[in-house]
Amino acid sequence: MKFADLHLHTQFSDGTFTPEELVLYAQKSGLACIALTDHDTVEGCARAASACAAVKMEFIPGAELTAEHEETEVHILGYFLDTNNQVLLERIARFQSVRQNRIREMVAALNQLGIPLKAEAVFALASCKSPGRPHVARALVKEKLIGNLDEAFEKYLKKGRPAWVPKTKMSALEGVELIHQAGGLAVMAHPGLNRSDDIIPALVRAGLDGIECFHTKHSTVMAERYLEIAEKYGLLVTGGSDCHGFSKNRPLIGTVKLPYDHVKKLYAAKRSADGKRAAPK
Ligand code: AMP
Ligand code: ZN
Ligand code: FE
Ligand code: FE
Repeated sequence: MKFADLHLHTQFSDGTFTPEELVLYAQKSGLACIALTDHDTVEGCARAASACAAVKMEFIPGAELTAEHEETEVHILGYFLDTNNQVLLERIARFQSVRQNRIREMVAALNQLGIPLKAEAVFALASCKSPGRPHVARALVKEKLIGNLDEAFEKYLKKGRPAWVPKTKMSALEGVELIHQAGGLAVMAHPGLNRSDDIIPALVRAGLDGIECFHTKHSTVMAERYLEIAEKYGLLVTGGSDCHGFSKNRPLIGTVKLPYDHVKKLYAAKRSADGKRAAPK
């Protein structure tokens, strides 16, 4: 059996692996295909593609966009993106600057609480254009201002806590359209995490192509529920570990294994979408 892991992060957003390290671990876990889905960036895709080509592993360029629908946060995965698409690049550049400004706001909130963290320390540690809360948490640990990452989220950074700053987001409908115009398939990420089942019909009407049924934080029961939802709406099925690096002393990549038949269906859907777009109006 061939398997894929279609939800992975690198140092180009809040993952801790380089694209090359990610591919090395993908190979070690016996995967046949991976997709890179960094938050609001496609920068790591070229290096991941080269590293995959060198070991004859299939690679799908992607990204994970943070969006919202009627105040529900929803992450939308884009697959088979044209990483040179100018509209996509311009739009995500704007969200990268939103992320950078948000780091300053979170640090200011921490400073208000008497925690002497400097924004520059976070930016130096993140060393990427798409920084996020995990970088703030890691900087707090590094500066010995908190014991560990979980504590940083629990005490300061998770939604509703004193240094949590909401992020300006694109609408989910805009996210789907942005992915489509860049040649990609749009997939709702980890629906079980955001408890966002009631927005699925609206996303389907907006042209959503698939749903992530298999995810590290989905129970078997949840995965089955989303498989049924996929069937009901005619959605493609995806899955991935959402690896950000090591978790409990092992690389998370490959711990969620998507049977390759689902990847075949993604390729087929991509081809038919290309055909549709190429046809004269
Ligand atoms: P951001 O995009 O800046 O809002 O950060 C979101 C990222 O933070 C997610 O992709 C996770 O990697 C991480 N994250 C969110 N909540 C937690 C939590 N409670 N504990 C640890 N990591 C978290
Ligand atoms: Zn993340
Ligand atoms: Fe996510
Ligand atoms: Fe993710």
